[in-house]
Amino acid sequence: MSYLVLARKARPQTFDEVVGQRPVVKTLQNSILRDRVAHAILFSGVRGVGKTTLARIMAKAINCENGPAQNPCNTCKSCLAITAGASLDLIEIDGASNRGIQEIRELKEKIRFLPTSSKYKIIIIDEVHMLTTEAFNALLKTLEEPPAHVFFMFATTELHKIPITILSRCQRYELKRVAPVELGRHLRNLAEVDGVQIEQGALDLIVREADGSVRDGLSLLDQVFSFGEKEISTDDVIQVLGLVSREVILKLTRALLENDPGTAFQALDETFSYGMDLKRFTADLLGCFRALILCKIKGCDELLDISQQELALFQELADNHSTQTLHMKLTLLMQGVEEMRYSGQPRLAMETTFLKIIQSDEVVPIATLLSRLDTLLAGGSQQDKSQMGDETSEFVSSIAKKKQPQPPVVDKKTESKQIVETSQQPEIPAGSSVPLASTGQVKTKQEAFEEESPPDDTPSSPPELMNSPDENPAPRIEPHQRSVRRDWMDFITYVRDRSVWMAQDLQRADSVKEQGYELLLEYADPANCTLLRKDDTKKKLTEFVLDFFQKELSLRFVLRDQNSEAAPDGSDSPLKERHLLANDPLVLMTAEIFNGQIGDIRVGPRFR
Ligand SMILES: [Zn+2]
Repeated sequence: MSYLVLARKARPQTFDEVVGQRPVVKTLQNSILRDRVAHAILFSGVRGVGKTTLARIMAKAINCENGPAQNPCNTCKSCLAITAGASLDLIEIDGASNRGIQEIRELKEKIRFLPTSSKYKIIIIDEVHMLTTEAFNALLKTLEEPPAHVFFMFATTELHKIPITILSRCQRYELKRVAPVELGRHLRNLAEVDGVQIEQGALDLIVREADGSVRDGLSLLDQVFSFGEKEISTDDVIQVLGLVSREVILKLTRALLENDPGTAFQALDETFSYGMDLKRFTADLLGCFRALILCKIKGCDELLDISQQELALFQELADNHSTQTLHMKLTLLMQGVEEMRYSGQPRLAMETTFLKIIQSDEVVPIATLLSRLDTLLAGGSQQDKSQMGDETSEFVSSIAKKKQPQPPVVDKKTESKQIVETSQQPEIPAGSSVPLASTGQVKTKQEAFEEESPPDDTPSSPPELMNSPDENPAPRIEPHQRSVRRDWMDFITYVRDRSVWMAQDLQRADSVKEQGYELLLEYADPANCTLLRKDDTKKKLTEFVLDFFQKELSLRFVLRDQNSEAAPDGSDSPLKERHLLANDPLVLMTAEIFNGQIGDIRVGPRFR
C-alpha cells in the first residue's frame, strides 16, 4: 500500500471543496453557468493557495458531460479521466522546466487539432512567469486569437514577472492567503477523518506556520501525523516542527515590558534549550511587539492573525504601556536582532539587547507632560494632580513651588533689595509707583509690587498655608485675604479666563495701586487702555475686581506723559524699549508659530 500525502489526498475535486477564495470561486462558477468562460485565465497568489487546483476544477467543469453546473460531476468519463490524470485533452505544462520557445511551438502544434474525446482542449501552464521572452511572444499570437476549442489556464506566484501584453489578454484572478480560521477548520476536519485528535493549541501552531498556504498546512500536518500518535498535543507540534513555544515567547514579551530581567533571561534560556531556530525566534518576538502596537491603533487588531485568547492578552499588555514605550522597545529589539545576526555570540548579543530594553523604562509622551504642566501651572486642582504619574507630579509640583507667589516675608524683602542694590538703582520709596520693568535688572512684576508698598496694609496669609505646597501646589487664598498688591497676577489670570483681551490690556499696565477706595491703573501709553476705559468694559472690570478681591474699588486710569519717559543717559526709555521688543518681528513670529501671546516683557542685563 502506497502512502498518499495529505496534500494530494485532500486535493479538492469540486469548487465547494476549495478552502477559502470564495469570491474567486463564485465568479468562476457563474462564468461556467452563463457559458462566459474567458479563453485565457490567469491565477496568481502565494504558494499553496489553490491556483492549479482551481485550474483543474475549471478544466473539469468546462468539459463535464453533465455540465454546465455549479460543480463538475466527477462521475462522467471526462471528469474521471481528468481526476486520474489521464485526459488527452488536458495538457499540463510546468513553466519552470518547459520555458523555451521550442516547447511553446510544440504546444501550438498540439492545439491545432480538435479535442479527441472532450468538448475542449485545456492548457494549464504552471509557474508561467518562468517562460522566456521569446516563449511569451510565441504565445501572444495564440492568445490574441485563441481557437474556439482551446482554453488557457495560467498560474503564477510572481505576477509582476509576466509581460503586460500577456496580462492584458487574460482574465485575472488573485488568490488570497487562506484565513487562519478557515485553514484551521480544514485541517481539523482532515485530522478527524484520519481519526487523529489534535489539541487547539497544536492546530493554531500549524496554522500560524502555514501562513495562509493550504499546501504548507497539509505538509506540516503530515509531518505531525507521521509522529504516529492518535492524540496530538501542542508540545508534540513544538517538538516535531522545531518551534519555540508560544508560551515562552509571550512570557518573554511580558518580562521585557514589565522590566523583569530574571524572567526574560530564563525564557531565553528555555528557547535555547529547545534548540530553537534563532531567526524564527526573533521573528516571533518581533511579531509580538508588532501585535502590541497594532492593539494600540484603533481597529487594527483585526489585522492580527491570532486567537481571541491571545488577542485579549495582547490587549491587556498594550493597555498598560504607552504607544511610545512600545515603539521604543520595538526599535531597540529590531536593532538588537540586526546586531545579533552579525555577532559571533548571538546569545550574549540577545541578552545585552534584553537588558537595554528593560532599562529603557517607560516613556511619557512630551505632549502629555506639557499638558500636565500647563494644568498645574494654571492652578490645577488636586484632582488633576491625582491623574498624573508620581514622578511627573513631583517634578511639576517642584516647578509650581518655584512659580507660585511667595508671601511677603522679611527674607524675600531683603532679597529684593539686594537685587536693587547690585543693579545700582536708587531704592524706591515705599508707596510710590514704580515702572514694572527697568533696564539693568531682572524683576518680576510680583517683586515690583512687593517693593511698591509696605506689607502691613493687609494681613499676610499664615505661613503654614504657604508652606504646604506638597498637599496643594497652588494654594487658593481665601477671597477676603486677597490684596491688589500681592494677587494682581492671579487677578489677571482670573480675568483671562473670562476675557483674554482684557487680561492682556491689564497686563500692559505699568503699575497698579490700591489707594483708598480706588484702584489706580497707570498706563504710559494711552493706547494700551483705550478699550478698558470704555464705560461698559470699565463696569465689567469693576465687577471682576469686586468678585475677585471682594472689595468695592472704583477704577481710575492714570495716563503718564510719554515724552517724559526718556532715560537720562539718552538711551531708550524702558517703556519705549518694551514697545520695541513687543513689536520685534522675531517676537511676533515666535508668538505666531507657537500660537502664543506676549504675557510679560522683562528687560535683562545689557550686553553693550
Ligand atoms: Zn463530469
